[in-house]
Amino acid sequence: MEEIKVFCPATIANVSCGFDVLGLALESVGDEMVVRKIDEPTIRIRKIIGQELPLETDKNVAGVAGLALLEKSSCSHGFEIEIYKNIKPGSGIGSSAASSAGAVWAMNQLLDTPFSPLELVQFAMQGEKLASKVAHADNVAPAIYGGFTLVRSYAPLDIVPIHTPNELYATVVHPQIEIKTSDSRKILKTNITLEKGIQQWGNLGGLIAGLFTEDYGLIGRSLEDHIIEPIRSILIPEFEHVKKAVMEQGALGSGISGSGPSIFALSKGLETATKVAGAMKAIYAKTDLDFDVHVSKISSKGVQPITKKA
Ligand code: ADP
Repeated sequence: MEEIKVFCPATIANVSCGFDVLGLALESVGDEMVVRKIDEPTIRIRKIIGQELPLETDKNVAGVAGLALLEKSSCSHGFEIEIYKNIKPGSGIGSSAASSAGAVWAMNQLLDTPFSPLELVQFAMQGEKLASKVAHADNVAPAIYGGFTLVRSYAPLDIVPIHTPNELYATVVHPQIEIKTSDSRKILKTNITLEKGIQQWGNLGGLIAGLFTEDYGLIGRSLEDHIIEPIRSILIPEFEHVKKAVMEQGALGSGISGSGPSIFALSKGLETATKVAGAMKAIYAKTDLDFDVHVSKISSKGVQPITKKA
């Protein structure tokens, strides 16, 4: 195979109680990428459609993640990449992660899969480091594995795929204000009280148990964050209104997607998720902000081939 076209899913990191460790992949929101072999032993970003992003290999997360893979590979050629961007950078639904994960997943396919998913996450984390100065894995892990993933440990890296109930849907609203991941990390406190720690690991354990047992009530009760959300939500206009309105429509729970400004809600079933989207739209339609709303099933798959050319 000389060339591959892939779908690179948007992802929701943190998912309320899982700051820096939990993430999920969306089924119907994402970018597309074409990756093909070239003779020169390098990575070239050939074109980017949909967003203004750097074409220089070392300034684009796809290039940086790709170079990390190439360095560990024994292949003598390189790759060129085309990015068709649907996920707005800085939206909080893993725009950079989609490109980092998509690039390394596609390259691995063209090399006949010498690398494991865990190794691909490690390469993609180098792209995340470029985007936000921290090599976090909570977006790239679900983008590569699909479904929910838990980063149990960063050193050594240990990714745990988490069962995803079939009727679980996400609704995401992106109010278009810019919050840089690096900026929204700076405002966080580095210490937490034991009391807050107890609440958070109780909820994280509850959420994981709820996902494995498909207990939607438990999933909903566990979608709480008393540590990060109270600080970061101040940066997001209408946050409290949205939280209240989505619960009135029957959402299981909601919170900040990644580092914001997007807000996510999880629901059981498409019907509720669609009602939740209506409530989000009604709130932002009353403001002068531009916004996007997405409704998507939680995907059990990560980056996927779209078409293959031999
Ligand atoms: P998100 O949370 O949506 O991933 P981040 O703020 O973490 O957004 O990352 C976006 C940053 O990464 C922007 O500064 C953007 O210029 C940079 N970047 C570099 N390459 C890419 C790419 N291929 N896709 C998205 N963002 C990229």
